[in-house]
Amino acid sequence: MINIVLFGKPGAGKGTQAEFLKTKYNLTHLSTGDIFRFNIKNETDLGKLAKSYMDKGDLVPDEVTTKMLIEAVENNFDKDGFLFDGYPRTLSQSEALDAFLSKKETRLTATIALEADDKILIQRLLERGKTSGRPDDQDEEKIKNRYDEYNEKTAPLIEYYKKQGNFHAVNGMGSIEEITQRLTKVIDNL
Ligand code: AMP
Repeated sequence: MINIVLFGKPGAGKGTQAEFLKTKYNLTHLSTGDIFRFNIKNETDLGKLAKSYMDKGDLVPDEVTTKMLIEAVENNFDKDGFLFDGYPRTLSQSEALDAFLSKKETRLTATIALEADDKILIQRLLERGKTSGRPDDQDEEKIKNRYDEYNEKTAPLIEYYKKQGNFHAVNGMGSIEEITQRLTKVIDNL
């Protein structure tokens, strides 16, 4: 199996790149943000709970998120691996994912960070907010809070994965095609 974590700040292009990579490498793409939004749209209990955090730009609590992610993995063991997009976002989530994959006798092959300048990312998010309908993309305060959450809770994961020896940083600035090429170069060399 190839199991990849696509990592990066909000707006870094994780979702856009995942769409291409999942097809090229026959991976199940799991975006926790997308699964939460699906639940919000369908007005499930999970959706109502998630919405109260997401609308403010806060992270949804670990237990809820990890339970949901693990269920999604369990139900999708039919491809050549997983592309995790937006999970893990905290140290506790990273540990939970490692423990779960190890129980399944597999592991993360690579963690790839898409790196880009904050100013450009915030502009990208505000642009996306005009058409995405996402309340968390439309308000600069909420966006700022998502960055604070990232810096405080998610950025420490870089050290965690560097220690594991599976961390790769990719320049996330440029055209979509250029970034895809950089990502495939990393994955093809794994
Ligand atoms: P995204 O679509 O990845 O930008 O996620 C949108 C929002 O969903 C985030 O701002 C969080 O509120 C929530 N979310 C998505 N993934 C996670 C996660 N792994 N842990 C906690 N909250 C998450």
